[in-house]
Parts: sequence; structure tokens; C-alpha cells
Amino acid sequence: MLTTVFAQSQEEITEAELTQHIEFLTAEELKGRYPGTPENDSIVNYLVDDFSKNEISVLVQEFEAQMRKDSSIVKTYNVLGLVEGKDSILKDEVIVLGAHYDHLGIKGDSIYHGADDNASGIAALLEIAEKVKAHQHELKRSIIFIAFGAEEQGLLGSQFFVENPIVPIDQIKLMMNIDMLGHLNEEKHLYMGGAGTFPGGVELMKSLANSDELNPILHAGGVGGSDHVSFYRKSISVLGFHTGGHDHYHQPSDTIEHLNIPGEVNAANYIYQALMEIATSKRELRFIEQD
Ligand SMILES: [Zn+2]
Repeated sequence: MLTTVFAQSQEEITEAELTQHIEFLTAEELKGRYPGTPENDSIVNYLVDDFSKNEISVLVQEFEAQMRKDSSIVKTYNVLGLVEGKDSILKDEVIVLGAHYDHLGIKGDSIYHGADDNASGIAALLEIAEKVKAHQHELKRSIIFIAFGAEEQGLLGSQFFVENPIVPIDQIKLMMNIDMLGHLNEEKHLYMGGAGTFPGGVELMKSLANSDELNPILHAGGVGGSDHVSFYRKSISVLGFHTGGHDHYHQPSDTIEHLNIPGEVNAANYIYQALMEIATSKRELRFIEQD
């Protein structure tokens, strides 16, 4: 009995767990999570450890990133967590849930902490992965969780992944991306682009929202500017989630103090529900192009 209660309390997405991840990722010592730095390597280790702790199989993809500032080439990484589905046929269909972990580093005397962009997304990714793993027996389709490197340098991690996928690319049926989940506003607007890129997507995403907790603002197209674009360009259905722009975007003031962590718990639970609904059902997944 005690074991059961303990296991349940671990799998739920909590404010404390999200905060812990965001505090780690935005700490001064990590110097703004810039690709090619020793600090970047310690984030990769943190991600590997977190997936491993939850008994999720981990794979690290190394790639070379050309940096925008000075065109230098550095080594950086995508960190992948794999959770296999249980249906003998549908397990070959893969849903990717992604978020980028890199940020802008240091400019002048200022550290760019990137609490919303995108420590918030990585915190949600890790906690959703933990909860999915606890419900793995319900999955028909397989899920790959990906923490992407070098997004701020031009979507480089996601571009590398779609050129070097670990499963045949046509097995990837949907990519869901989280980029900035920490600023849910008073109206509880969760924005999402790409809902019209798979059959019934708009209806599904509307039906999953409990208006006390979230008001989804849906775009059938509006595929936007984060890592899901790399997948959309390969004719893969996408959903891009974010809680909207703000004055701290790409500023040193993007810090944890400005985040709405209770709001992020709701947003992360909604994304978890959407992922499980799609991964545990036989609903048709097929790419629908949008303008
Ligand atoms: Zn971002």
C-alpha cells in the first residue's frame, strides 16, 4: 500500500519538481546554456541522469553546430529518451515530444538565463516523460522525448535529428514541441500552432481543455519558429505549444521570478493528456499541409 502511494506521488507533475529543474537550468554557474561550453555538457549529463533515474532508455546524439555570433563550429548534443509502445503494429509509429535546452549564453556582463525560453519547456518535458513512463503499459504508439541543442543558433538540433533520425523518418507521425511554457497569463491562454496538420487535431485539442485551468488558442496552421518547423518541413504533423511572448523574451531578465509555475503545471498536464490521448488510441495520424 505504501509503495503504491509513493509511486503515484512521484509520477504527478508538481510545482516543486518543475521549479527544481528550472532552478538548475537557470543557475548562474551554467552561464546561459551556450552550446559548446563545459556548462552545456553538464546540462547534457543532467538530462541523461533524469531520464535514467526514471528508467527511460537514453541516447545522446552529438552534432556540430555553427554559431551565429562568430561562425565558429562547436560540438553539441541532442538528448533522447525512448519509451516503446505496446501494440504489435502501432508501436512502429512514433510521436516525438521535444523542447530545446540551449539559450543565449553571456553578452557583455549579462547572463541570459532563459527561464521561460526554454528552461520551462525542458522542465515540462522531463516531468511529462516521467509520467508517461509510469503509464507505459497504456501506450500503443512509441514516444521519443528529445531535448534539442542549439535551437537559438537556427533550429540546429532538430535539423540534425530529422536528417539523422534514429527510426525511419516516415515512422514519425507527429511532433509536439514546447518552447516557453512559463508565462501563462490571467486569461490562461495556451497557444498552439499546427493543430490542423493531422486529422481532427483542432477538435481534439479543444475537447481536452478544462476551461478552469486553460483556454487553448488554436491555429490550424501557424507553424511558427521553433524546432517543430524542422519536422513540418519533412511533411510530419506538428503541434507547437507556448504561453506567449513578453518583455523578458531574449533579455537577461528572463528569470524564474517572472514565471507562473502553477500555470505551467496546468499547461504540462494538458500536453501530457494530449500526448496520451494520441499515443494510446488508434486514431488516424496523417500529415495535412497548411499554408
Ligand atoms: Zn526558445
